[in-house]
Amino acid sequence: MTVDGAVLQLCPLLPSLESALRAHHHTVRLSDQPDPTAYLAAHGQEFAAAITSARIGVPDEVMDALPRLGAIVHFGVGYETTDVARARARGIDVSNTPDVLTDCVADLAVGGLIDVMRGLAAADRHVRRGAWPGAGFPLATKVSGKRIGILGLGRIGQAIATRLTGFGVDLAYHSRNPVDGVPYRYFDSPVALAAEVDALVVAVAGGDSTRELVSADVLDALGPEGFLVNVSRGSVVDEPALVKALVDGKLAGAALDVFVDEPHVPSPLLDLDNVLLLPHIASATRETREAMGALAFQNLHQFLTEGTLRTPVP
Ligand code: NDP
Repeated sequence: MTVDGAVLQLCPLLPSLESALRAHHHTVRLSDQPDPTAYLAAHGQEFAAAITSARIGVPDEVMDALPRLGAIVHFGVGYETTDVARARARGIDVSNTPDVLTDCVADLAVGGLIDVMRGLAAADRHVRRGAWPGAGFPLATKVSGKRIGILGLGRIGQAIATRLTGFGVDLAYHSRNPVDGVPYRYFDSPVALAAEVDALVVAVAGGDSTRELVSADVLDALGPEGFLVNVSRGSVVDEPALVKALVDGKLAGAALDVFVDEPHVPSPLLDLDNVLLLPHIASATRETREAMGALAFQNLHQFLTEGTLRTPVP
């Protein structure tokens, strides 16, 4: 069943994805319209599908202005920025790009963990500012053999666990439901998990149900010798509590790829040598972004030519 209608593009996309879209489907970039609200009021009924990023989603007022919308295609695995219940109530299908980014996000989480425990970026800064001849670099923390907790043992969490197994670490995790068939210890709350590990790696989904799941109490439980790695979403961590814990020396260090108000990073963090600050790059390799683009295109194309999505969200 083919679906009649154009594609509304809500954010900049990879050049290869934009080219594929334009080659196959009538696609309109909302940002090209001088007055997007007036444009949607006049042309909203022309669109059968929307393509957007995990960061932007489809705002309610845009969804409401598209009466014939049948599918929302996300470039990215997170889709908490779109109100999926609102879409479903209108019969709009929603897709994301799972699996294809799992390796790169897991690689970066492990890289961040090693960096912050061993002080790699800090040591690089030490050498570059010419401090090496004057003073050795302070001793760091061993990674191998440590107790590591994973918050959210989904696709990415499990890929992180698989990688860390090679480091001989003692792995434990928390998610709402224990995962069948994994050999790692399960804790029924983030606080209980944090109290038992040397480092906590956050890989849960974003959205309201995980907002500030890493609370001040969780950070307290992790303690002054504990490390935090976050490759999930900034919203999952109580960011003011995290900044305070780091500034007060109540946490040993943090590796952060995501923040509450991106691209703004809390300014006190900029002065801390025990914090790795990354500009939300966990999936940002050429290979993975191309694979995400191809999967987003397949979703859109399949919807417009067959009426179904390739990877609908659960
Ligand atoms: P999955 O859906 O496979 O895993 C999500 C995990 O979160 C599951 O273990 C789930 O377990 C857990 N979870 C969800 N809600 C809660 C809750 N309220 N309390 C505790 N645990 C919860 O997703 P992926 O592994 O593919 O992706 C995970 C997240 O990683 C994405 O949603 C996205 O936010 C982030 N991400 C970040 C990127 C970056 O660039 N930094 C790139 C890609 C993804 P259960 O349901 O049992 O609770």
